[in-house]
Amino acid sequence: MELVAIAGFAVAFAGAHPPTGTDWLRFAILAAGATVHIQLTQRQEERRRNRTKTVLIDLIAVWVFPAVLVLPTTLTVLLVVLIRVQRWFTARRPAHNFVFSSISHSLAAALAGLVYASLGAHDWHTITALGSLREFGYVLVAAAVYEGVQLIYVGGILALSDPNPTLRNVLGSKADNTIEAITTGLGAVTAVLVVTLPPSVAIMAVVTVFFNRLAELDQLQDDVVTDPKTGLLNMRGWSESAERALTRVRRADGNLAMLMIDLDHFKWINDTFGHPAGDDVLGAVAKALGEVTRPADIVGRFGGEEFLVLLPDADAAAAEVAAERVRNTIAALEIATTDKRGAQTTVTDRTTSIGVAVYPRHASTLQGLMQAADAAVYEAKENGRNQVRFADGSGG
Ligand code: GH3
Ligand code: MG
Ligand code: MG
Repeated sequence: MELVAIAGFAVAFAGAHPPTGTDWLRFAILAAGATVHIQLTQRQEERRRNRTKTVLIDLIAVWVFPAVLVLPTTLTVLLVVLIRVQRWFTARRPAHNFVFSSISHSLAAALAGLVYASLGAHDWHTITALGSLREFGYVLVAAAVYEGVQLIYVGGILALSDPNPTLRNVLGSKADNTIEAITTGLGAVTAVLVVTLPPSVAIMAVVTVFFNRLAELDQLQDDVVTDPKTGLLNMRGWSESAERALTRVRRADGNLAMLMIDLDHFKWINDTFGHPAGDDVLGAVAKALGEVTRPADIVGRFGGEEFLVLLPDADAAAAEVAAERVRNTIAALEIATTDKRGAQTTVTDRTTSIGVAVYPRHASTLQGLMQAADAAVYEAKENGRNQVRFADGSGG
């Protein structure tokens, strides 16, 4: 990947003209704006960094993308380096990670600049109305290259390093990408400002600091529907998604199934190995549930060691297959954890009792289905645990 980057830089640098006095002035303005942004948002960035597990979107495109449009590539890359050096102190990430994302930023900027420059001469002072429309199209092309290179470069590495890559893990969430697109858009506005009315770039510095806050709000919204221990949906998030699915199924006159999953003798794990081990088991089960279900299925943590899975469009037969798959998958887990003294140990052979309720056979509301599935779990427990039980009393 780094060889690809070196080749990209070589081509981009070869095409760049030497910086003029105006270039240096614009560089200084963008560097000053970026520095204000970075210094005033350090704490927020640290918080964001601590939480984001997948792709981290960097709002710094507000300063880098204008450089792509108005500066020669050499200065654009210099700006990225300047920004990244300041970021190094808040990032606290392994050096190879940090260098890699610095290269991906620089490469994306260099290639986008190359493409933009190749689209023709751009004099924004003497532009006509029609010309500005075409120019705007060029800016969008440059933005697409800038975003695309980062997605492919970072996504490529993530896909190569993740044993089971998912689209979301590799490309980032929809919210992340929306933020990134808006950031790049703000960068285009900054470019116009730095060329036509440089002092107004100060306004952009204020806007970006505020925008950083908004990006954090988005994260908080996610937190509201997430169970922190397992990363699954909590009951609020699960119920919201489940209600939406039920409404859709009801309208289509379809089926839907609900699995209530209760781990057998979970208290024994806590008593034997300690609560941290219990937490590790919950985490492993949550991960397994994510892997054995389909993307449209809705997985949530109901309470302590109980999980809920909603299977849209599944009938009783499909639900039984899914429930047995869950039971067998959990039974096959080998969970590495620590015992009460902190020594390594492995938890295996965990059994599960699963209650299944199907819409519309057992109930017609989410509440009703949950009650039916819960009652089925208790029947499974009374019947000897380690089994799937349907709400109408039939075995799995
Ligand atoms: P059964 O087979 O009847 O389901 O037995 P059980 O031990 O799984 O059920 P019980 O409801 O008696 O106990 C559940 C235990 O789960 C009790 C509680 O301490 C534990 N628990 C609940 N939430 C958590 C958690 O977040 N972490 C850990 N480590 N334990 C938890
Ligand atoms: Mg329980
Ligand atoms: Mg239990």
